Amino acid sequence: MAVPKRKQSKMKGRKRRTHYTALTPTVVKCSNCGEPKRPHHVCLSCGTYRGRQFLEPAV
Ligand SMILES: [Zn+2]
Repeated sequence: MAVPKRKQSKMKGRKRRTHYTALTPTVVKCSNCGEPKRPHHVCLSCGTYRGRQFLEPAV
């Protein structure tokens, strides 16, 4: 079994982790109710998408 010859340096590990970024969820404003919603998704507060009603609006 292959075994690493040297301990990986702190810098090596840190450099790799520079690509780890926290995922920021994209939010857009709903065109129907103005609430923040995910793009290309049915609005969860009013239940519409592209002007059509898909879900029961939340009360
Ligand atoms: Zn909405």
